[in-house]
Parts: sequence; C-alpha cells; structure tokens
Amino acid sequence: MKTTLEPLYEVGLRVPAFESTDGLSWRGPCPKCGGHRRFLIFTDCVISRWNFKCDGCGFKGTVGNTWPEVAQHHHNDKPSHQSVTLDDRKKEEEKRLSELQASRKWLRFHARAMEDPDIVTRYQERGIPQEWISYWLLGWTDTKFYLFEREKYQSSAMTIPKIGQNEEILNIDYRLTNYKKGSGKYRHEFGIPVAPFLADTSCKEGENLYIVEGAFKAMVLYLMLEQEHGESQVVGLAGAGTHSGIAEYGKHFKNRSVILDPDAQASAEKLCKGMTNETKQVFFPTKVDDAILAKDLSYSLFKKIVKSSRTHNKTTRRFT
Ligand SMILES: [Zn+2]
Repeated sequence: MKTTLEPLYEVGLRVPAFESTDGLSWRGPCPKCGGHRRFLIFTDCVISRWNFKCDGCGFKGTVGNTWPEVAQHHHNDKPSHQSVTLDDRKKEEEKRLSELQASRKWLRFHARAMEDPDIVTRYQERGIPQEWISYWLLGWTDTKFYLFEREKYQSSAMTIPKIGQNEEILNIDYRLTNYKKGSGKYRHEFGIPVAPFLADTSCKEGENLYIVEGAFKAMVLYLMLEQEHGESQVVGLAGAGTHSGIAEYGKHFKNRSVILDPDAQASAEKLCKGMTNETKQVFFPTKVDDAILAKDLSYSLFKKIVKSSRTHNKTTRRFT
C-alpha cells in the first residue's frame, strides 16, 4: 500500500523533494539541518508511529512524539492506494502557491486591520507601531478555519505574510485569537512549505544576522535594533527546529547570532553548529521580545550579551 507524506507539509517538510522507491520509506531534505537526502522516514504504519532519522544532524523520532498535533489531525487517514509521483507533488505545491499569490489576500487582511482601531491597538500592544504594521503588511481576518482532532473550528486571526527576498509571497502565518486548548495558536497556508519571516526583505547581506523564533520576536528585536537598520537582518524561524536554508543564508553576514527561547537551547546549539561559519548562541532567561517590551533589555545591554555569548564553530569537535 502506497502512502503520502502530505500531512508533514504542516511541519515544514519539503514534501515534493522527497523520493521513494517503494512508497513506504522516503528520503529527502531534513527539516532541521536542510541536509539534502539526509532525512529518512518510514510511512509503513499509522502516522503517529512513522519514524524518521536524519543522518546529517541526528534528528530522529516518531511523528506522534515530535509533532503530536499533526499525528492527531491525520490519525484516521487511510494510506493512499495511488502512487503519487514526485512531479505530481511539485505541481500540487506550485499550484497552491500560485493560488495564494493570485489571491492577494494578505493585502485584504492588511486593509481590514488598518480600518479597525482595535486591531491596530492589538499590534501596538505587541510592540508594533502603526507605520510598521503597514511596512510588514500585518493584517486581520475574521474567519480562519482550522482543524484540530479532525474537527473544524473557526477563529479570527492576526495575519503575517512571509515575503521572500524577491518580494514574493511564500506563506501566511495566522495567529489565532481563539484556539482550542492544546491545538497551538499558529496556523499557516496548508500544502505550502513553511517559510521564515524576514524583518528586512531587501537586506541580502550585511554586518549582523540575528535568528529568533517566530515573526513577532523578529519584529520586536528588529525595531530595537533601529541603529543597525540597513546592515542587520533579523530572521524569525517558522519553528525552533525549522532550520532549512538558514546556514546558506547566514554565509552572507559577517556575524551570526542564534537567540532561541530559553527552553530551545538544544535546538539553538544544533543550529549554531550547522552554520558554515562561527555563530553565537545567545541565551536570555526570558523570551527576547518579552525582555525588550518589559524594558529590561536595552540596545547596549543586548549588544553586550551577544558579544559575551558562547561561539560555536563547525570544527568544534576537533577540540573535544
Ligand atoms: Zn538533519
């Protein structure tokens, strides 16, 4: 019986890039380290027990343990009897992306936000001034449908478009305002790979690259770094473990700093070690946007902490 990897779109797997010889095990790029054909996943049983391993970075587990939400969504899915070719998958992904591009819905969401002072206030309370709501085209929708444990729910949501380096739309994040307990508060466009948030889409190289978790942290940190605008970039990862493409991107910056949440330091260390050049692992005892908004963290203190942080290098192993 053939299977499909489709449910793992939701966690950032580049599904169309995966290949299978028997339809039961698949090989493709690792969602953590990006390593090409390094990630092997077996889909020969119920989705919660699908197990995977990356022979690049060692990331391994089962879908049920690593992404329980996805396993729950799909636990009744029957394996597909049809074999879906790589070409079909690529076409499906491209179709969904071009539908998203054509819809221009993130612009409607933005217009909706700007006409409602309460929504503008919501963003301001998260540290985003009005002119930056416009700059990042942040928006609002009253009706975002989402699935949880195979039930369909509806919520209003803050919308964050993920714009790429060529000003193209890559995905949209939905921060649900009213979500079922245990379902997670973020959603994105289904069937399209997750994308990182770039605070400055025009910044392709420069002095400093800061890597944080999620778009809001990226925005709040970027705003604090006002004096570095034009020479520094802040990237918000789609998830602490979603590192695909970041090592390559990091090559274009003189300094790299990884600032993940306090509970994601193992992931931060892996990300640092996966970078091509020396990279700082910066630890704050609280989430970086909370520290900035509570005014515990000034620009000069931030720079001091970054400077004194532990540096990782790809060749670290040599010294141990
Ligand atoms: Zn890996």
